[in-house]
Parts: sequence; structure tokens; C-alpha cells
Amino acid sequence: MSNEQFSLFDVASDDSPNLKPAKTKTRKPAEVIFDPATFDAALIPTTNKMPIPAGTYDSMDQIQVHCSECQRCGLGTTRTNAVVSRGNPNASILIIGEGPGENEDLQGKPFVGKSGQLLDKILQSVKLTEDDVFICNIVKCRPPENRKPSKDEMEACRPYLMEQIRLVNPKIIIMTGASAIEGLFQEKSVGITKIRGQWRDWEGRACMAIFHPSYLLRNQSRDQGSPKWLTWQDMQAVRQKYDELNAEEEF
Ligand code: SF4
Repeated sequence: MSNEQFSLFDVASDDSPNLKPAKTKTRKPAEVIFDPATFDAALIPTTNKMPIPAGTYDSMDQIQVHCSECQRCGLGTTRTNAVVSRGNPNASILIIGEGPGENEDLQGKPFVGKSGQLLDKILQSVKLTEDDVFICNIVKCRPPENRKPSKDEMEACRPYLMEQIRLVNPKIIIMTGASAIEGLFQEKSVGITKIRGQWRDWEGRACMAIFHPSYLLRNQSRDQGSPKWLTWQDMQAVRQKYDELNAEEEF
């Protein structure tokens, strides 16, 4: 991996319209695919008391429909769109973020704002594309003012995440930021600085925490030991693991 690839970690201030504040924003819910022939909308859980057992869903589209109507937690009352996923549902790498921000809420896709652009560049730096990954969040609806989702909100939304992981069946899970670790491992507040870059097992999958791209946007240095430099090391480790697991599969 060359320094040239590391240089991809920068998001130029003017390289995308998404980087500039939108002048007008249409709060329009995204179209949701609904096929009554294969799907019973009456099963949409309206409270967090209604269980969502493993195996409930056959596709991401079904999860999208349920999340778009879901009121299992209070975030359902303030969202514009439920933000379920983007990327390849057959990918070997699944990336988990905390929750949707403003751009994501408006567009109905995760990591589409400035952080998302940086995430795409981070992936590009180790020659991965959107086709190699599946991207989702711990909570599918935007917490007001971009606050951290509460433990109850994470718990209410967890069945959807579990179903996404079951359907994608990734070999590698990348958790961006502390909330993603807390949500997946159901751990209390963790120090991302201490545990980033370490491989952990979750249900037979290799998991690694990295800094959230929004944190990297606030820490622009690429000096050795800086958050960007550390993330560059972590992503090279992810790429190596990805290649190793793919090689094992070929034998
Ligand atoms: S955040 Fe999750 S649990 Fe809460 S309303 Fe949205 S989809 Fe439902």
C-alpha cells in the first residue's frame, strides 16, 4: 500500500455537492418497495414488545418496509426516512455506523454525507468499493440533533441489525466508532482509542473497530500516530484479513 493510497483519506472541501450545505431540502420519504404477494405488512412491529425472531425476513426490501413503518422506539416519530442500508447484500464485509445523520435521513441511505464520502475514500484506499461492502447502522432512524442513540433505542432496533447480519452473512464486520461497538457487543461505553485496530470475534465473524469517519474529518493530520494514520493501519489489516479469508475459501 502506498502513501498515494493513504492520500485518499482526504475529502476535498469542494469535490462533491454533498460537501456543501444544501440550500433547499425536500423532506420527501423515499419510495419503499412493497410486494403484498410475499410479505404480510400486518406483521410490522409497532412496539418494542413485539418480538422479531431470527428468520423473520427474506430480504433487505422487507426490512426496509418494516423499518419505514416501525414505531418500536421514539425515533420513529421524527424520522423522514428509515435508513436501512446501501452496498452489496452479498458482501463479505459489513460496516456498521451509529445512526443516520441529516443527509442520510433525507436521502434514506447510510453514509451519504461528508462522512460517507470519506468512508468511500477509506475503502478505496485499500481497493474496496461499495460492491465489496454492505453498510448499515445500529439504529435505522435519525436521533434528533445527531445525538447518540440511547441504550433503549439501540435495543429496540437491534433485531433489524441481527437480521441484516444473518442475511448478509459477512466474514468481516467493521464497526465505525464507539456506539457501533456498544450496539453490536451490547457493551457499556467503550474507549474507541483503546480498542480500535484489534480483532474480536462475534458469532464466528472477525470484527474490528475503527474511528468513525466524522472523527477523522475533525482530525485532519496524517502524521504517524494520528487518527487518520491509525485508521490507515487498521484498513490495511482489514484488507489483509479479507484476502486471507477469500484465499481460504478458494481451497
Ligand atoms: S430506530 Fe429502529 S426501532 Fe426505532 S423506530 Fe426506527 S426502525 Fe424502529
